[in-house]
Amino acid sequence: MENYWHSVNLDITKCNGCTNCLKRCPTEAIRLRNGKAEIINERCIDCGECIRVCPYHAKRALTDELSDMKYYKYNVALVSIPIYGQFHLNKEINKIFNSFYNLGFDEVYDVAKAADYLSIALKDRLENKEQDGPLISTLCPAIIRLIQIRFPSLIDRIIKLETPMEIAARLAKREAMEKTGLSMDEIGTFYITECPAKITSIKNPVGIRKSYVDRAISIESVYSKILKLYPDVEIRKQIQNSSSIGIGWAKANGQSYSIKAKNYLAVDGVENVIEVLEGMELGKLNDVDFFEGYACVNGCIGGPLTMENSFIAKARIRRISEEIGESQFEAIDKAKALEIINLEMKDWIDDIKPKNVMKLDSDIRVAINKMDMIEQIYKQLPGIDCGTCGAPSCRALAEDIVRGEASIDDCIIRKGQEAKK
Ligand code: SF4
Ligand code: SF4
Repeated sequence: MENYWHSVNLDITKCNGCTNCLKRCPTEAIRLRNGKAEIINERCIDCGECIRVCPYHAKRALTDELSDMKYYKYNVALVSIPIYGQFHLNKEINKIFNSFYNLGFDEVYDVAKAADYLSIALKDRLENKEQDGPLISTLCPAIIRLIQIRFPSLIDRIIKLETPMEIAARLAKREAMEKTGLSMDEIGTFYITECPAKITSIKNPVGIRKSYVDRAISIESVYSKILKLYPDVEIRKQIQNSSSIGIGWAKANGQSYSIKAKNYLAVDGVENVIEVLEGMELGKLNDVDFFEGYACVNGCIGGPLTMENSFIAKARIRRISEEIGESQFEAIDKAKALEIINLEMKDWIDDIKPKNVMKLDSDIRVAINKMDMIEQIYKQLPGIDCGTCGAPSCRALAEDIVRGEASIDDCIIRKGQEAKK
């Protein structure tokens, strides 16, 4: 069993075995055992789909708390880009940013600024790419994990470029160290997150040795506090300092727009992403230069830990982006920005490794044999994908049987049919 920490977690006392999550999990990572859901650790990509669909709130994301600020001498809130779409347009966005001071933070950082810088680096990587076909964005950690477990042949296509969250954390730490004279460990960086997959990527980073984000607090946990504080918030400074280019990264196709890419493919919703990655594996997308895939519908503005409907949030972001415009981006010294990103990227130490959890066997002949066995067992099952056996589909049960994790008698329908004979 892989020892891998996941943010997405089950509160077994709340689970009543309704099978909603079982059927919606895109990687078939959930089984029902003794009337309760169980997450198969190795298969989970922390997409949060089960959090969305569980009517009993038994699935949750493990997050940190505002009270964790006590562990640091100086605390910085890294305000994620989807925040731009969370509040009604009658709330001024810079005032929302300033409200984090009232929550107890010493400094507040606009993560979209890091996305401005990354847009320059992304363009540079694509202009200098050495392989045919698409390069894959690293923005959505759920999709990176999906590629690791289900599409390992595509790993080489993943761009070695960190996310706005990571770059913002590093820049914020450096700024705070200069300002306060404190050490890196004395400064706490708190990502105000839309996403359980990002929380997991903080604890289990891919490609880098260690995340510079110390803690993650969900947007939903601070949302009502901010609304309450808002009328009395004083503007201490202009924190919002990104352009519409960086802000656009909150939504699907924002990265491609930021670099004015022509041959790109932006896909949202994990089932759609799986379909497109299957095509990419078959070499069907070699005319595409860049692929951005998001587990969530509409991109990160649809993250499971946000408050607002993603379509409404998208419309707000469009309005705010129009008002803010691109002038902040135009003012960035592009060579300097590239230098900053390349300096931060020196921490990329590791190749992304495949996690062959879907493989039936490492010996190809044994694997083929097992595939035949799955087909034979599947033919004996009713094919109605009812989920009462505890597996999400009849084919998944057949696979579980071949893996030695279930029995054909788990199918109650078949058992009944056999008894009538
Ligand atoms: S987070 Fe996603 S992959 Fe993990 S168990 Fe839930 S639905 Fe499945
Ligand atoms: S699309 Fe964004 S919010 Fe959703 S899982 Fe991916 S990174 Fe997280």
